[in-house]
Amino acid sequence: MRSKIVAGNWKMNKTLAETNVLLSELTGKLPDTTAEVMVAPTFVNLAAAVQDVSASSIQVIAQNMHFAENGAYTGEISADMLLDIGVDTVIIGHSERRAYFGETDAILAKKVVAALAKNLRVVFCFGEELEDRKTDNHFKLVAEQLKNGLFQLDASAWSKIVLAYEPVWAIGTGETASPEQAQEMHAFIRKTIANQYNTEIADSVSILYGGSVKPANAKEIFSKEDVDGGLIGGAALNADDFIAIISAI
Ligand code: PEP
Repeated sequence: MRSKIVAGNWKMNKTLAETNVLLSELTGKLPDTTAEVMVAPTFVNLAAAVQDVSASSIQVIAQNMHFAENGAYTGEISADMLLDIGVDTVIIGHSERRAYFGETDAILAKKVVAALAKNLRVVFCFGEELEDRKTDNHFKLVAEQLKNGLFQLDASAWSKIVLAYEPVWAIGTGETASPEQAQEMHAFIRKTIANQYNTEIADSVSILYGGSVKPANAKEIFSKEDVDGGLIGGAALNADDFIAIISAI
């Protein structure tokens, strides 16, 4: 059975003191759940965050990494650096990395390979722009992102992959894909993976939805058959909201 996952992407938010406070609230209020709960603070606070959650089931994950093992890449972070501080999962391909930092499918494919080579787990993000949806190009675009980013992998690598479908038009906009739109795309993603690999892999990969998930809409989105949880941005910055979303799963 595939994992249910609720992951909070904190982006470039929260100082060290704020990180400690939010994690103390989250660990204190964490509901009893079989879902995996992940938080992705900024790099400089990762090590402290790992300490903060050490007595809890919350997993601290990274928002990004570089594909090189080490070397002259000013400002970048390697897989080994993450592992060294106890972080074994990394988000790759978030739409903000694609849009603002020029991360192409080819770069992301290299990052995925580099992360898996170090046995990191990867939360791979992808999703269409509004224009793609308006022009009915969204299925094609998503299939291309999957192919370019992940279909170079051997079947055995897929046990380390979590997918996060995040329509760009729904991220941070307050606009959410309807539960039906999310389900339709998640089913398409599963079918695309089954065609490329097999149904066993397609059925075992967790596919998260991301895009303005809030306490008010989480339950309905999570109730859909092929939605295995969420990647949460804004609502993950508030303990009560994030806890409510975790409870919704
Ligand atoms: C995200 O950035 O991955 C995201 C889903 O953000 P938000 O929940 O704020 O739309």
